[in-house]
Amino acid sequence: MNCPKCNATMESVSFEEIEVDRCTSCGGLWFDLREHEELKQRRGSEAIDTGDHAVGRAGNAKGDITCPRCHARMVRMVDHEQPHIWYEQCSTCGGAYFDAGEFRDFKKHTPGDLIRRWRAKARP
Ligand SMILES: [Zn+2]
Ligand SMILES: [Zn+2]
Repeated sequence: MNCPKCNATMESVSFEEIEVDRCTSCGGLWFDLREHEELKQRRGSEAIDTGDHAVGRAGNAKGDITCPRCHARMVRMVDHEQPHIWYEQCSTCGGAYFDAGEFRDFKKHTPGDLIRRWRAKARP
């Protein structure tokens, strides 16, 4: 499988029994359906995101990509709990692509994020 952003080869990396793909060039991560949500719950899973956040931020500029699994157009998603995180999701197979450093960020809730979420829920 090749990286949907930079076209380099992706290698498989696993955390516990979950296997994801990581780009050998830009460090972007590919998750099959729901794997990113599953991994978010696991302690220490941010270790798979070894890429450089600066490279990942540059990757955000390229939002128009096709799914490396099924070649459908991917849709840009914004994490509802942390709206500064943009990732791409395939509407056909449900796979998700995170630029380098984004998964670490996705996992890590800052106290500010929690308070914002709490306030949003408290609103009538
Ligand atoms: Zn790449
Ligand atoms: Zn797909």
